[in-house]
Amino acid sequence: MGQATRTTKLLLDLSKRKEGGANTGKRACLEKTVAVLEAARAFYLDFFLAHSQKLAERVVYYSEKHLEMRERAISANELLTWAEACTVETREHPHPWAGWNFSEQFPDLPFAYRRSVIKDAIGKARAHLSTRATWEKSGKKKGKPGLPGAAEHPTLYKGTWELDLSDSDVKHRFVRLKVYDGLSWQWVNYPLKCSRHFQQRHREPGWEQASPLLILTKEDAALHFPQTRHVEAKKVKESKLDPELVTVAVDLNVRNLAVITVRQRGQIIETVFVTDHGLDQARYRQLKKIAKKQWLSGKPVTGEHSNQQIWRHVRRMNEDAAHQVAHRIAQVCANYPGCVLLFERLRKIKPKGASKSRRMNRRQANQLRGKINQYAREQAFATCSTCTVEVNPHGTSQYCSRCGKPGERFSYRGGKRVSEKWGKLFWCPHCRYQAHADFNGSANVHHSFFQEFHWKPRPQRSG
Ligand SMILES: [Zn+2]
Repeated sequence: MGQATRTTKLLLDLSKRKEGGANTGKRACLEKTVAVLEAARAFYLDFFLAHSQKLAERVVYYSEKHLEMRERAISANELLTWAEACTVETREHPHPWAGWNFSEQFPDLPFAYRRSVIKDAIGKARAHLSTRATWEKSGKKKGKPGLPGAAEHPTLYKGTWELDLSDSDVKHRFVRLKVYDGLSWQWVNYPLKCSRHFQQRHREPGWEQASPLLILTKEDAALHFPQTRHVEAKKVKESKLDPELVTVAVDLNVRNLAVITVRQRGQIIETVFVTDHGLDQARYRQLKKIAKKQWLSGKPVTGEHSNQQIWRHVRRMNEDAAHQVAHRIAQVCANYPGCVLLFERLRKIKPKGASKSRRMNRRQANQLRGKINQYAREQAFATCSTCTVEVNPHGTSQYCSRCGKPGERFSYRGGKRVSEKWGKLFWCPHCRYQAHADFNGSANVHHSFFQEFHWKPRPQRSG
């Protein structure tokens, strides 16, 4: 039993007016809204930090289950009601606390927005107080946690946005948002970049929808809808007892981004190689450009990002590749219902030595592997309730997957076998087994999971 999460994104169209996008005034409204909400969040963050004893309050309640009075921590909803009573002018509470009059400082702020910033502030204040408590407990002098910032993507509760998807024309859709234009709060229509894909995901049965976040960046604005789904999944311990269990192992590498092997009853029944289609080379070329520019311009200016365009391109390439590979892995898992997905615990390929661009490329490759791992496990869990296990990566590329003895890597140079550490092929001198090195590594991941060969649990030493 578990919960799968995902985000469905809906882009607002902020392209030029002629091309059907929102006008610049509308864009400015979004920026002002985010700024006002940040100020409001800062207000409540200060308020909660000034009254931190309230956050730690215990509440006595009557438990129906245990038939007695019990104690529990104060809930976020109770805190919200309390904070509103202290700071907001209403008929029941005509006089907010001195110095904490929210209604005066933020007149007409819609109550749905007010509630969302109070909830954000409670979360931030609680997180800050707990990290500070652990820091105080540790007795360290350095590393005192600083005060939390108030920036956050605003959550749009009911009453601040309206989205009508009933219109048959997908291309011409709008979302109504309650925004601040600098003087008052208005409903404004924003054109969307809506697609059938969005609609399908948005309405897919089984997924529960939470309030969307308004994500405003330098270039784009979007609504992100968090979605959750309950997933019934068997415990891995139980599945491991099943002799028919299918395991899907993934070996993540640089050139062969992923080598997927599927094993049942001790035999590999399917193998999929996912190559990077030259991504590593392309990224290396881009990073070489950056390294050269940095070298030409001397020391980088502090506080200024250089080569933004190239970095963005590199990040995009990585992100794209990660999603594609993850999708492929999830597809394989979907073919074998009830299977278990295996990854190695990630080890880093150390970005040491070599040229600067080489090192930067290594670092990017490491990040890519981490992303593939994360996306693949999320997708496999959400689409076919496959659980993921991380196994001990020790020696998966050095040992023979057939007999379990140490072997060596080599490549062919002019028809001759040359043994070298980075060779593409694997050879076992004990049983004369020969295979693609990444395939051998992937097959070993299964052995590591089932604790075969040298991955056997060691007998406990006594005395
Ligand atoms: Zn062997």
